[in-house]
Amino acid sequence: MAHTNSNQYKVVIVTGASRGIGAATAKLLGSQGYGVCVNYHKQLEAAEQVVTDIKLAGGQAIAIQADVSKEADVVRLFAETTQQLGTVTHLVNNVGVLFTQSKLVDLSIERFNTVMTTNVTSCFLCCREAIKTMQAGCAIVNVSSAASRSGAPNEYVDYAASKGAMDSLTKGLSLEVAADGIRVNAVRPGCIYTDMHADGGEPNRVDRLSSQIPLQRGGTPEEVAEAIAWLLSDAASYVTGSFIDLAGGR
Ligand code: NAP
Repeated sequence: MAHTNSNQYKVVIVTGASRGIGAATAKLLGSQGYGVCVNYHKQLEAAEQVVTDIKLAGGQAIAIQADVSKEADVVRLFAETTQQLGTVTHLVNNVGVLFTQSKLVDLSIERFNTVMTTNVTSCFLCCREAIKTMQAGCAIVNVSSAASRSGAPNEYVDYAASKGAMDSLTKGLSLEVAADGIRVNAVRPGCIYTDMHADGGEPNRVDRLSSQIPLQRGGTPEEVAEAIAWLLSDAASYVTGSFIDLAGGR
C-alpha cells in the first residue's frame, strides 16, 4: 500500500511556530513523535520556549530562524532541518500576517505585496522545497483562513485574497502529487485567540465577534492544531485536496 510510511521517522517543519497556532501545532506534533523544526522570524526566545516545552514532554525539536518569504532562507531552512533532524516528511505552512483594518481603497502597494509574499510566496517556496524530497506517505497542511470565503471586507481584503490564493495552491498541488502518494490539505480557521488580532489593530477582536459566531466563542490554537495533526497523520490517508473549516459554524 502506497499510503503507509509508519515505519519512517517523521520530520516536520512548522513555519511560524514561535507563537499562536504554529506553536500549538509544533507542541502537539512533538508529543506525537515527530522531529519538529520550529521556524520563527524574529522572536528567538518564544521559539526556544516551544523547543524546551517539546523536549520536556519527551520529544525532539530544533528552532531555526528563517524569513520564509525569502527563497534563500527557505532553502537554508530545509537544508538545516535535513542535516539536524533528517529528511523532511511533513510540512505545515502556518506563517501568515495581516495589518491594520482598512478598506481596499486605502491599501498601499507595499502592504499588498508584503501580505502576498509573506502568506503566499512562502507557501509556494516551502511546498516546492518539500516536494523535491517527499515520498508516498508524506503530507502538507496549509493554514488558510475563513477569510478566503468571507473576503474580509472593510478589514483586510489583501489578507483574504492571499488566503484564496493558498486555497487554489492547495488544490492544484494536491492533484499534481496525488499519484505519488503525497497528500496536500488545508485548514481554514475563523476567530482564534492569538497575537494576530493586535497586528490588525484590535487585540480584543475575537471577544467582540464572539456573539456572531454560532458556537458563541472564539477558538483556541490547540483546537486548530488538532485538525492539522489529523490531516498530517496516516489516519487521514484518503484525504487530499480538502479543507477543514474551524470557524465555530461560520
Ligand atoms: P501569530 O500569533 O501572529 O504568529 C505568527 C507567527 O508567524 C509567529 O511565529 C511569527 O514569528 C511567524 N512569522 C511571521 N512572519 C514570518 C516570516 N516572514 N517568516 C517566518 N515566520 C514568520 O499568528 P496566528 O494567529 O497563530 O496565525 C497562524 C496562521 O493562522 C496564519 O497563517 C494566519 O493567517 C492563520 N489564521 C489565524 C487566525 C486567527 O484568528 N488567529 C484565523 C484564521 C487564520 P515571530 O514570533 O518570530 O515573529
